[in-house]
Amino acid sequence: MRSACVCCAALLVLGLSGCERPIAFDARIEPSLGHVPYAATILCRAPRGEYTYALPDGQVVTTADAELSVTVDRLQWSAEIRWTNGEQVRTDTVVATGSNARPTLFRPRINGIPSRWFLSPFERTLIDASYHEATVSTDVSGVLCDDAWHLVDVRLTCPLKTLCGSPIPDSIFCPPREDGVWHALYDAILCENACIVYPLYTAELAANGAPYAPRPEEGYVHSTSRVREIYDGIGFPSQEATIEIVVEDEWGRRTSAVFKIPLHATVYSTLDGPVPGPDDAVFYVADRRGVVYHRRTCDLVCSIAPSSRAYYCAQQHAEDAGLTPCSVCFGSD
Ligand SMILES: [Zn+2]
Repeated sequence: MRSACVCCAALLVLGLSGCERPIAFDARIEPSLGHVPYAATILCRAPRGEYTYALPDGQVVTTADAELSVTVDRLQWSAEIRWTNGEQVRTDTVVATGSNARPTLFRPRINGIPSRWFLSPFERTLIDASYHEATVSTDVSGVLCDDAWHLVDVRLTCPLKTLCGSPIPDSIFCPPREDGVWHALYDAILCENACIVYPLYTAELAANGAPYAPRPEEGYVHSTSRVREIYDGIGFPSQEATIEIVVEDEWGRRTSAVFKIPLHATVYSTLDGPVPGPDDAVFYVADRRGVVYHRRTCDLVCSIAPSSRAYYCAQQHAEDAGLTPCSVCFGSD
């Protein structure tokens, strides 16, 4: 008792409000884990007072209720709760977490045929990432996700088409072309989450920024008068190509997967002997933001980031695009 009085005296000396027991305040949310969006309740424990709930969507609720029903609408959800009895103030934070699974990426469907798993050179090919359930005779395919998702990228690369150790991807088409939309007309049906490739075909970019199409494709330039394909006339043996698919779910999380797929050979040998191979291809490379173009064999090509490379079949095409020859690789001309 004597020591308690000493304590009170000490508190008074320190200017604190007295000898009351500290006010316990804590808040929690139940459940704190669930599939977003889900209903939850914030529960506070404190003496009578006023509560101010600051929710992550900016809403602020002031009430005498020690409970508040909320909707957890994001994967990392938190709210701050302020309690006061008019004299004292306490705050606490509650955190809830979304358990929503990331998308699961199964291999895409080729040309709408569940059992088909190969690519043929230059064949108009539909790569379809929409989800298709398994049947007794076919495997599941496409992107499985409880939540909304969208395609971010599809890349088809072939190991025999490389430059400075990184692949030269095949051209991708999404007819009818709309910025940022992944869909493709195939057999008169507009397939969502899909695109068209012509395996092995990589083209120059037209003035609209999209690749030249090897045949009419809505929204793309189809050039009949000039060759626009950088490996034109080159023979390829069979190889194992890679389809890479990147998706983003509605929470902004990106998930990707790569699928190896057999790619059949082109004609790469005739009775007259072998046709030119991938290393014999003659084409030119520029940085999309630069003003010069290079021979593919120029050392400077390797300093251009793969995503910034623009390819040209002929010097004239590069010059038509306003580029000038590199003084290093064309210096002796
Ligand atoms: Zn050069």
